[in-house]
Amino acid sequence: MSVETQKETLGFQTEVKQLLHLMIHSLYSNKEIFLRELISNASDAVDKLRFEALSKPDLLEGGAELKIRVSFDKDAKTVTLEDNGIGMSREDVITHLGTIAKSGTADFMKNLTGDQKKDSHLIGQFGVGFYSAFIVADQVEVFSRRAGLSASEGVHWSSKGEGEFEVATIDKADRGTRIVLHLKSGEDEFADGWRLRNIIKKYSDHIALPIELPKEAAAAEGEEKPALEWETVNRASALWTRPRTEIKDEEYQEFYKHIAHDFENPLSWSHNKVEGKLEYSSLLYVPARAPFDLYQREAPKGLKLYVQRVFVMDQAESFLPLYLRFIKGVVDSNDLSLNVSREILQKDPIIDSMKSALTKRVLDMLEKLAKNEPEQYQGFWKNFGQVMKEGPAEDFANKEKIAGLLRFASTQGDDGEQTVSLADYLARAKEGQDKIYFLTGESYAQVKNSPHLEVFRKKGIEVLLLTDRIDEWLMSYLNEFDGKSFVDVARGDLDLGNLDSEEDKKAAEEVAKTKEGLVERIKTVLGENVSEVRVSHRLTDSPAILAIGEQDLGLQMRQILEASGQKVPDSKPIFEFNPTHPLIEKLDGEQSEERFGDLSHILFDQAALAAGDSLKDPAAYVRRLNKLLVELSV
Ligand code: ADP
Repeated sequence: MSVETQKETLGFQTEVKQLLHLMIHSLYSNKEIFLRELISNASDAVDKLRFEALSKPDLLEGGAELKIRVSFDKDAKTVTLEDNGIGMSREDVITHLGTIAKSGTADFMKNLTGDQKKDSHLIGQFGVGFYSAFIVADQVEVFSRRAGLSASEGVHWSSKGEGEFEVATIDKADRGTRIVLHLKSGEDEFADGWRLRNIIKKYSDHIALPIELPKEAAAAEGEEKPALEWETVNRASALWTRPRTEIKDEEYQEFYKHIAHDFENPLSWSHNKVEGKLEYSSLLYVPARAPFDLYQREAPKGLKLYVQRVFVMDQAESFLPLYLRFIKGVVDSNDLSLNVSREILQKDPIIDSMKSALTKRVLDMLEKLAKNEPEQYQGFWKNFGQVMKEGPAEDFANKEKIAGLLRFASTQGDDGEQTVSLADYLARAKEGQDKIYFLTGESYAQVKNSPHLEVFRKKGIEVLLLTDRIDEWLMSYLNEFDGKSFVDVARGDLDLGNLDSEEDKKAAEEVAKTKEGLVERIKTVLGENVSEVRVSHRLTDSPAILAIGEQDLGLQMRQILEASGQKVPDSKPIFEFNPTHPLIEKLDGEQSEERFGDLSHILFDQAALAAGDSLKDPAAYVRRLNKLLVELSV
């Protein structure tokens, strides 16, 4: 044991304490994953060393083969992992093994329910990494030295996984990290060569560097212990370099868990090798579940970048557009230089063409998933649909392809689930229908009963119901799909084109003529509140409706802009009334100007309420309505 100096005891960050507590209580059913997590970290550490050594060869310190060793001691009940990767300095250890730097962690912790089953899913999304050691150990020791520091700058970290940890400076001759797990009583099954070998084969076969275990050279009783001999137990070649046909699904899945820090299997993957002008391999995955920080601006995104099999950087963001930020994977290029930086990546034209090819691959993979496994795709849509909706605005070139992947609620369903694709919609379209009709609004409950749908219900025409916050904005980028244009049914002067018969149109015109006087009277009363008053063709049951001007902002966009403190351009709705509704007939015959005014205002306010808008002067509405109610009851 070397001398320890500068010993101190420090407390874990609150979030670490919560995580440790939770992990110990909710991950007990799959304890063996601790080894996968620690090997994954060791492999990352070796990747980092390899990369840094490109510009500083001294870091290799004479250059022994890069590897991970796992050993055990049955008597002492310990399992030890050792890597000769980048290692950690004292400061590294204190920050990396005492705090969680991920953005949004505190919020994430608040979501935990205390229900162990649910929480173990959540924690899977979060990733536990190093701390998983405490699932099987009641004391963990880390001995580490950062490559490039002197032997006297080693560090010893030790903790029982409760509230605090100790750090001390020690001598450590070899660079890298050794982790000693003191197994909990009852967990000594892990101090076993056969068990460890199986776990490594199961989870870590794809790790690209050798993972060694001691050869079980049993010494006879009384003999001196033989010198340790080591053997490699994993395949130790980079997964993406192997031919697709030779790789089992389980290998793809385990590799995904390693790079994505996810506990669950991915939904789908796409593995490709491109040769020709550009040469690169890519392995892209669609996760099954959205990470907890999908909407955090600083959340990690992007692919792991390798250049000629050498790891270069994590979270290389330039290879995929932002709306595909949930995709995990690896890209390994033969054309880039090993000392490529993020800044260079942003400007390099090679990256642009790789980006568009990789984007296509992802969209193709999603198309395939939607076609072959619609149920899985529905799960994907639930998790990532909102992000996909950012696509048409960001990725003009693939607008049509992305539109094909969108899913909507519609008047055909009755539960508000987003299951209808544009292709489904068009396949069901009425004869002569050359438009895709949609309505946006606050909530499904509100839009499904909107008066705007009345004429569509009457004619049996399907309307897409869009109630996500992003929808109105999305639709401002989608003009058409499969040659059919989109029409917002709450907007402008609804023209049903071929869906209205000549007789219908004529009849409507006749009626409109007879109501010209009423239009003028209402216009005078509503005055500044409206941009126009006209006879409606879209109502069957309701007396009146407010339509949005063709170029005006819809309610959703107005609310978003207002909430973000922006000035919203003033726009006035169009007041449309149903000429055959009894209330309108009554209004038309009303002699008292005062009563006519009150009734017109009430109809206007009601139409605003039905559209999900708030009233400018709610008290006036209540006053007018009550006045009428009183008159009614005498
Ligand atoms: P993650 O791997 O998701 O970042 P972990 O909790 O597993 O989270 O690890 C935290 C950090 O500790 C790592 O990002 C790395 O910087 C450091 N670390 C863990 N294990 C090692 C190791 N074997 N060698 C060097 N650094 C390590």
